Amino acid sequence: MVQNRVAARRSDADRSSIRARRCTLDATQESGPSVRATQFAMGTIMSYTVFGPAARASLAAACGEIERLDSLLSRFSADSEIARINRGAGREPVPIGPQTHAVLLEASAFSRRCPDCFAVTVGPLVDLWNIGVKSLHRPDQSKIEQARGLVNDGDLILDPLKPSAGLRRAGQSVDLGAIGKGFAGDRIREVFHRCGIRAAYANLGGNVVAVGSRPDGLPWRIGIQHPRDTDRLIGCVSVVDRSAVTSGDYQRYVTDSRGNRHHHILDPSTGYPADSGLISVTVVSPGAMVADALATALFVAGIERGLELLEHYPGTDAVFVHSDLRVSITAGLKHRFQAGQNTEFTIMD
Ligand code: AMP
Ligand code: MG
Repeated sequence: MVQNRVAARRSDADRSSIRARRCTLDATQESGPSVRATQFAMGTIMSYTVFGPAARASLAAACGEIERLDSLLSRFSADSEIARINRGAGREPVPIGPQTHAVLLEASAFSRRCPDCFAVTVGPLVDLWNIGVKSLHRPDQSKIEQARGLVNDGDLILDPLKPSAGLRRAGQSVDLGAIGKGFAGDRIREVFHRCGIRAAYANLGGNVVAVGSRPDGLPWRIGIQHPRDTDRLIGCVSVVDRSAVTSGDYQRYVTDSRGNRHHHILDPSTGYPADSGLISVTVVSPGAMVADALATALFVAGIERGLELLEHYPGTDAVFVHSDLRVSITAGLKHRFQAGQNTEFTIMD
């Protein structure tokens, strides 16, 4: 399994260069020379394990790239490009850089393919529910209706040729929570490739990017959290050169006085936390952004519509956990999924 525990050795040079990037680096010697780093960015912990002579340089570049993306894409830092788009809602589009433009174009392509499931303009609903920020106050129905009315990706004004973006109506806002870390995962894979890295593993707050295979030639094994038992895995997938991303109702939630769970993945068509019969969806794909956006969309869509959606993404597979803890996997994972203890699973051919 990828969580290899190792003794840390850190030189003074490492400490000073990395402190500047708010990124910590540890040298390790387990399974061949590797370097590990951790970083806090995009509201989560990012960790990296990289093998090969260019590991150190590639990590400095990776951490720098993540910081740059965080400063562009976070809707909570006032001077990010996303915050500027949101502040200008109802007015003229604002100029943005090529990366923000690219992620918004990709996000709106997803919402065209998965209308009702994926909405990058979900910001007003996210703010209203505020899951994980303060304890649950269940919003009034009228407020839910009002916020839901503002969620419409058709109101995101994007010129495919000119990097600018705007929102048609005041009160609307873009939220990249469901796709931004995946976009960053693809950039990290590019950084590693550029640096000639052939074996690496990055975990961007649950968005896993596996580069190549392990240095011993075996596939990387990525554990999937049991949605109702934090100490257990419900299974794991063995992968080479893939990304794996999970969306689950256990990742950020509050429970109300009646014992109902209110989680952070919202159904844009109801305005409520999605209730599709699934409690966790893991998507395994060559692309991290596809995996991230699809995991969220499939979670909202449910298994039947989810399987239809998956057909548009060749080479992409999924592990679905139903609310009764049954597990279903797509056929491409037949030889790559290992179930956890006491877990039965069905292969959908
Ligand atoms: P994820 O953890 O990747 O499934 O993304 C969940 C995050 O994306 C939430 O915390 C919100 O910020 C945002 N979000 C919630 N529901 C949706 C949705 N239906 N479509 C797009 N983004 C969403
Ligand atoms: Mg997602």
